[in-house]
Amino acid sequence: MWRPRAELKGAYDVVVVGGGAHGLATAYELTKLGITNVAVLEKSYIGSGAAGRNTTILRSNYRTPEGARFYDASLKLYEQLAGELDFNLLFSQNGHLTLAHSDRSVFVMRERAEVNQLLGIDSRFIGPDEVRALAPAMQVHPDATYPIIGALYHPPGGIIRHDAVVWGYARAADAYGVHMHQQTEVTAIDVTDGQVTGVQTNRGLIGAPIVVNCTAGWSTLITDMAGVQTPIQTFPLQAAVTEPVRPFLDTVVVSGTLHVYVSQTDRGELVFGASVDPFASYSMRGSLDFVEGLAGHVLELMPPLHKMRLLRQWSGLCDMTPDYSPIMGPTPVKGFYVDVGWGTYGFKAGPVSGEAMAECIATQRTPEIISAFGLQRFTDGELVGEKGAAAVGH
Ligand SMILES: Cc1cc2nc3c(=O)[nH]c(=O)nc-3n(C[C@H](O)[C@H](O)[C@H](O)COP(=O)(O)OP(=O)(O)OC[C@H]3O[C@@H](n4cnc5c(N)ncnc54)[C@H](O)[C@@H]3O)c2cc1C
Repeated sequence: MWRPRAELKGAYDVVVVGGGAHGLATAYELTKLGITNVAVLEKSYIGSGAAGRNTTILRSNYRTPEGARFYDASLKLYEQLAGELDFNLLFSQNGHLTLAHSDRSVFVMRERAEVNQLLGIDSRFIGPDEVRALAPAMQVHPDATYPIIGALYHPPGGIIRHDAVVWGYARAADAYGVHMHQQTEVTAIDVTDGQVTGVQTNRGLIGAPIVVNCTAGWSTLITDMAGVQTPIQTFPLQAAVTEPVRPFLDTVVVSGTLHVYVSQTDRGELVFGASVDPFASYSMRGSLDFVEGLAGHVLELMPPLHKMRLLRQWSGLCDMTPDYSPIMGPTPVKGFYVDVGWGTYGFKAGPVSGEAMAECIATQRTPEIISAFGLQRFTDGELVGEKGAAAVGH
């Protein structure tokens, strides 16, 4: 679908580090703005990072106006993306439920619904009867250990085929002239007098006046190379999938209280996830502890699943910021840009991030839609707190 090994040139106008959804979307969007002398450098294979390991939930019902507006722009781009990339992305917009198990969570869900509605986002609080109608397999019973009092319902939310998104972007970027170099690891970033001049790789030196860090879970290793500090820590995030069964669950179901979420794929498998592992690490190994906890919590919600078998579990890396919002835009090093801090929630932001980063690079101005996500906010104390809306329901 794309040239497996384009010629590695000695210099490019823009070098994008990281061949995940964000790096590829940025490269593709740059070509739409006329910047085509672009290389994407990927140390492994395209989509080998979190872009190919996530649980594919797309939604825009965030807590802050800055976040909700941003993710909603991405959701709208995703709605058109299969047509734009001419690639079937299997986007199922069957709705997203965030369960409320306590009075406090009802309050928080109502507040989120109001923020969303003010921005024109389809999101509302619903009672237990409507929850039961949307997800009949769920135990919506007042005597349950964690009774479901209601939910934040977000009809345009859903799931997509993640690797198709990656492949679609890669094919389109390649068609417009982007060079994608797999097995090409950035080992150092050259900076002279505060200006980026290029990157060193396992395949040699590549000159570039602009370098974009799109490496998600590895992002602090790259920012360190440029001498830029970010308040990011990397944590593993695990997920698991069952054997396929007949379709019975249309919506994505998330319980922050139980630290679990579940969706059913087009093939009938149930995909489960949770919050990040409780320790910082670059390990991508699954743990028995995770599956035990997950199974217990899933059965609280859906007891009839007790006979289902897990097929496999896996893990990916998440670059967590203190406020659960990304860090995007220029840095104190001229020509060195970051598109990082994607934590457990960044897959849904690929399209809008690609557009915004490309515009930022092409115009040398930060687009309004990402102006709240600059690195400077941690110095200015202007955080965009999304923990309540992003910690479990990715
Ligand atoms: C289990 C799991 C479930 C998730 N679920 C969701 C979800 O449902 N919805 C959602 O929106 N988000 C979800 N996320 C988060 C989401 O996947 C990430 O935030 C997002 O994919 C990160 O952006 P990316 O795709 O560009 O990064 P990645 O795909 O991680 O790309 C970074 C790339 O950089 C490469 N790289 C690293 N270092 C170097 C180097 N030195 N030189 C060259 N290349 C390098 C890596 O190999 C990697 O391919 C989930 C994450 C995980 C792990």
